[in-house]
Amino acid sequence: MCGIVGYIGSQNAVPILMEGLFRLEYRGYDSAGIAIISPAETRVFRRVGRVRELEASLPRRLTGKVGIGHTRWATHGPVTQANAHPQVSGDGRISVVHNGIIDNATELREGLQAKGETFGSETDTEVLAHLIARSAAPSLEDAVLDALAQIHGTYAIAIIDQRHPDRIVVARNGSPLIIGVGDREMFIASDLSALVRHTTSVVHLDDGELATVTATGFRTFSREEENTAKTPVSIDLDADDVDLAGHQHFMRKEILEQPASAERMLQGRLDERFGTARLDGLNLSPRDLRSFRRVKILGCGSAYYVGQIGAQLIEELARMPADAEPASEFRYRNPVIEPDTLYVAVSQSGETADTAFAVREVKRKGGQVVGLVNVVGSSIARECDGGIYLHAGPEIAVASTKALTHMAIGFAMLALVLGRVRDLSISDGQRIVAGLKALPGQIEQILADEPQIAEIAADLSAAESLFFIGRVRGFPVAREGAQKFKEVTYRHAEAYQASELKHGPLALIDKDLPTVAIVPDDELTDRNMGAIEQISARNGRVVLIANPGVPDCAADSRITVPKSARELDPILLVIPVQLMAYHAARTLGLDIDKPRNLAKSVTVE
Ligand code: GLU
Repeated sequence: MCGIVGYIGSQNAVPILMEGLFRLEYRGYDSAGIAIISPAETRVFRRVGRVRELEASLPRRLTGKVGIGHTRWATHGPVTQANAHPQVSGDGRISVVHNGIIDNATELREGLQAKGETFGSETDTEVLAHLIARSAAPSLEDAVLDALAQIHGTYAIAIIDQRHPDRIVVARNGSPLIIGVGDREMFIASDLSALVRHTTSVVHLDDGELATVTATGFRTFSREEENTAKTPVSIDLDADDVDLAGHQHFMRKEILEQPASAERMLQGRLDERFGTARLDGLNLSPRDLRSFRRVKILGCGSAYYVGQIGAQLIEELARMPADAEPASEFRYRNPVIEPDTLYVAVSQSGETADTAFAVREVKRKGGQVVGLVNVVGSSIARECDGGIYLHAGPEIAVASTKALTHMAIGFAMLALVLGRVRDLSISDGQRIVAGLKALPGQIEQILADEPQIAEIAADLSAAESLFFIGRVRGFPVAREGAQKFKEVTYRHAEAYQASELKHGPLALIDKDLPTVAIVPDDELTDRNMGAIEQISARNGRVVLIANPGVPDCAADSRITVPKSARELDPILLVIPVQLMAYHAARTLGLDIDKPRNLAKSVTVE
C-alpha cells in the first residue's frame, strides 16, 4: 500500500526511480508519479493507473541526478492526476511524496487558504508542501521541521527543493522509510524490494527521525535536531527473491518455494533430544513462559485465521486458554490487558497499521507482546518485546501464501515451547518435533499434485458462490480457503463450521453451489462425513481435501494431503487451498498478483 523511492547520485535518476516504482507495484496503488530536479527546474510527472502508463507518458530525454517517486493509495481526495504525488508547493519549488495520513490537514488547509495559498489537489499531503515552502528557515531541514511541528498524523515523507538540489530530506513517523547506501550515490525507499537491485547496505529510520541524504552520505537527526548516529546494516536479500525467476506469477512462485523456505525456517530451531524448540528471539526464560496463564493472538485477515490455528495449537499442546482476535477490532474496544496473558502480534509485513496499533495499546497498558513477523526490522518487529522471525523471504504477491504457512509453523513452535514448560511430555514433544521436521517433504508431496488441483480449481471457478467447511482443526483452514479464493477470484466464498451447516446454511445447498470440505483424519472424521452426506443428499457437489485415512464418502473429487501429527494437520491442509485459489483465478484470467482493491501491507486505517 503506497510506496516511496528516491535517488541522488551521478546516474540518471529517472530509470532508477521507474524501476523502483515497478518493484513497489505489488503493494497496491492507484496512481503514480515522479519529480526530477534537472538543473534549472523541478519537473513533475503524474498519472492515474499503472506505473507503465506513467513511464509511457515521460518525455524521451528526461534526465536529472536527483528525484523522488511515489505510488499512491488514496486516502484524502479521489484518484485523480492532480491528487497523485509528488505534491508541489504553489511556487513549484518544493516537491513531496508521502505515505500515510495527516490528521489535521483540513484545519491547516483552511489556515493556509486564509493566507492566500491556493491548492491544486484535495490531498492532505499538499498541505506539507505549502508549509515547507512558506517557512522562513534558511535550510530545507529546518523548514521541514517547522512544517512537521504543525502536523499530526502518520507519515513517511521525502522532499526535494529546487533551491537545495544537493539533497533529499526524509522523515518517518509510523510508516517505514529506508535509506540505501551506495558508492557515491544514495537511495531511499519505503520498502526493501525497491532497493535490492542497487545496494544491500541500508539504514532503517525510526519513528520521529529525519535524515538529510546527499550523493555522498546521510545524516540522521531527531525532531529536536539532535544527531542520531546510525550505522548501515547489511541486508540478507537476494535480488532473485524479488524477481519472477521465470514464473508467470509471484503467487505460484511463492507457493512453490514453501518446501525450501519451511526447511530454512526450521533449521537450528528444533531440539529433538528434549522434544522442544529453541526460540531465543522471544527473550523469555522458561520461568517467564510458565508465568503466563493465557495467550491472546492479534492479526488481520489471513494472519488472524492463522492465529486461530495458532490458538488451537497452544490449547492442545500447552493446555492454556488461547484465542485469536482481529487486531482491527481489538484496538477499538478498550481491551482489558492482563499481566499474565502473553500477547502475540502476527503480521507478514510487520507494518500492518491495525496490528501495530494493537501492539502499542497492549504495551501502553503494561502487557507483554511478542511478534510473529516476516520482515526483519519492520515496525512491529521492533516494537514487540521479542518474537519469532518467519524467514519466509520476500513475499510479493498480494495474496499471502508462504508467509502464512510460516506463521502456522511459528505457532507450532511457540505452542511446543509453552507446552514443554508445562505438561507436554518429552515423548509428545518429540512427536511434534518429528512432525515439524517432516513438513517440508510433505509440502513437496502436495505440490506434486498441482495438475489435479488445477483441474478441480478450473471446475470450481465456474461457480458464482462456494462454501468452505471444516470442523475444529479444519475450520480455520476453511476460513483461509474461502479468504484466498475470494481475494484472487472475486467469487463469493464463505467458510462455515461443518457443525453449523444444518443450523442454517444448508438451505443454500443445491447443484450450483459447490462445497470444499477440509477433513483431517482425526477423532472428528465420522462427524465430518455426516456433514458431507447431508450436502450430497441435496445435490451439492463436494471437493474433499483430506488425509489418506479419510473415506471418499459422497465426495465428487478429492485432494489427498499427507498425514502429520494431528495437531499439525492444519498446516498441511492449507497448502491445497492456496493452489486451488491460484488456479481458479488463472482460469478466470485475472490479475492474480495484484487483485483489485487490495494492497499487500495495509499501512493505513
Ligand atoms: N494521504 C495521502 C493521499 O491521500 C497519501 C496516501 C498514501 O499513503 O499513498 O494522497
